[in-house]
Amino acid sequence: MKDTFKHKGLRKQLVATLVSKGIKDVSVLEAIGSIPRHLFMDSSFLDHAYQDKAFPIAANQTISQPYTVAFQSELLEVSPEDKVLEIGTGSGYQAAVLCLLGAHVYSIERQIELFKKTSKFLPKIGYVAKRLIFGDGYKGLPDEAPFDRIIVTAGAPFVPKPLMSQLKIGGRLVIPVGDKDQIMTLYIRKGAKEFEKHELGNFKFVPLLENKS
Ligand code: SAH
Repeated sequence: MKDTFKHKGLRKQLVATLVSKGIKDVSVLEAIGSIPRHLFMDSSFLDHAYQDKAFPIAANQTISQPYTVAFQSELLEVSPEDKVLEIGTGSGYQAAVLCLLGAHVYSIERQIELFKKTSKFLPKIGYVAKRLIFGDGYKGLPDEAPFDRIIVTAGAPFVPKPLMSQLKIGGRLVIPVGDKDQIMTLYIRKGAKEFEKHELGNFKFVPLLENKS
């Protein structure tokens, strides 16, 4: 599949929509403006790829709504060379945004089908994560910790302790917390045991699952 003039035009419109919804971070907008989102979706959804909507991908999962990706990425405040852990690789779209922000990306996915598909696909279109891991994001990634930034892209019923402890001091954790719908929550680690908490509105994610069902 190609990235055509038409796709580029649609991306410009999508970026304008995100600006109108309040996204300000220029590097996040530039990333979304340059990533061919249509390649992350099944071809039957080609026409929808640049609408500001979530869409189904393999294994009953979704590629997050562009606004949600932009909102979480903006909150994360990634600097180039930051070590960033993502929970929920899914299609790899959010991981691609993190790559373009200059991050060293580590991303965990618990669905083997998605893990395999995305591990092949992402580097093929030029987005190279440091590591894509098949595993349970509730545990984080202790052998690579600590991280400057951690982003969870599935709805977490609670904040997993390992994610808090694997954050650097001064680091930021962005996590949607809740069962049916979620409150986007930002934790900033101020000290060994001190976290600042900010709640930033309601969102709806697929669930962060603990045990394989
Ligand atoms: N970041 C993705 C969003 C995918 S939806 C994207 O840009 O496309 C959330 C993803 O989290 C799903 O792929 C789901 O399989 C995964 N997930 C759910 N529970 C998980 C867990 N405990 N550990 C790792 N990934 C998990």
